[in-house]
Amino acid sequence: MPLQFTYEANPGRIVFAPGSVESVRDEIVRLGAGRALILCTPNQRDLAERVALLLGDLGAGIFDGAVMHVPVETIAACREQADAAAADCAVAIGGGSTTGLAKALTLETGLPIIAIPTTYAGSEMTPIWGITKDRRKVTGRHRAVLPRCVIYDPELLLSLPPAITGPSGLNAIAHAVEALYAPDINPITALMAEEAIRAMAQGLPRAVVAPEDIAARAATLYGAWLGGAVLGAVGMGLHHKICHTLGGMCDLPHAEMHAIMLPYVAAFNAGAAPHALARVATALGGSEAGDAARLLHALRRETCPMQSLAALGMARADIRPAAEAAAASSYPNPRAASADEIEQLIAAAYDGGEPQ
Ligand code: NAD
Repeated sequence: MPLQFTYEANPGRIVFAPGSVESVRDEIVRLGAGRALILCTPNQRDLAERVALLLGDLGAGIFDGAVMHVPVETIAACREQADAAAADCAVAIGGGSTTGLAKALTLETGLPIIAIPTTYAGSEMTPIWGITKDRRKVTGRHRAVLPRCVIYDPELLLSLPPAITGPSGLNAIAHAVEALYAPDINPITALMAEEAIRAMAQGLPRAVVAPEDIAARAATLYGAWLGGAVLGAVGMGLHHKICHTLGGMCDLPHAEMHAIMLPYVAAFNAGAAPHALARVATALGGSEAGDAARLLHALRRETCPMQSLAALGMARADIRPAAEAAAASSYPNPRAASADEIEQLIAAAYDGGEPQ
């Protein structure tokens, strides 16, 4: 236990229950708002229409144009619709792409957000926003983009296909693993991170083989909430730096890339952060730091269809430039990593074998 720490709780209200999407109208009233624009991706339009029915006269329409990486053109179209409808709040129902669009809208307009997550990405718990302009993603932190209320309804996850469920769950675990060796860790975030890994690892294999198992969906959504909370609270390390770089340079799918990369970075950091990695291992059912990477790899094999960056379509020629770009930027990590070492880590993930 450190002698000294700062803990800043992110504001917000959490409503967690199967069927809690039904409470969306009450939550808008509680906010003091009365004209909600509903945001979603094109393929979650049906769900948004269900929310519109629940909202009745408090609904101000549906914007169904959310896409990955929040392009400025999408933000402009969404803002135009929000202005035309005189919206006074946004309801974001969907994964990280939809929540990301709501955050970008709020950055421009100040509209309060109610988030209803349907994946394990965890964006709803972080003050981190991202916007893509001319194929370049810019990110920042601002507490104003934090949703005012998050409705976690595990029933909405029942439709999440196994191929998205596994990687999305490991993406949430990646937040928690890096939180455990963050330099700004505190006892509360550490508890949340360990619990995130335990809950996610307990529920994820079942959620993949039996997507409609509500207990598995509740355990994993609870883990995702805590994973998002620690992502928003402390600085992320080498794993997130590599994934951010690969995402930008190689346009690889977000959750899958995290799922594949994580065991190799855990192995790399185990010697430098033995206490943190031992906590990861314990939460996964192991006992010592050296178990963490092996258990993360086993969980990935059990739950994810894609097992290597090569399978995601990355070109081998991109490994070295990505390693150099990641090495050139600063990030907190328990062990310094040279461009050569990062190249080895990406190469290992490219092949997808056992972490060494
Ligand atoms: P996503 O939001 O793009 O969703 C992936 C696909 O799954 C979409 O087509 C979506 O419509 C569909 N989908 C979502 N929920 C579903 C459900 N329950 N049933 C059926 N289909 C469903 O993907 P994501 O992984 O949730 O989010 C990734 C994005 O979020 C990335 O751009 C990433 O950078 C961002 N992100 C941001 C933060 C942050 O703190 N700002 C944190 C994590 C992720």
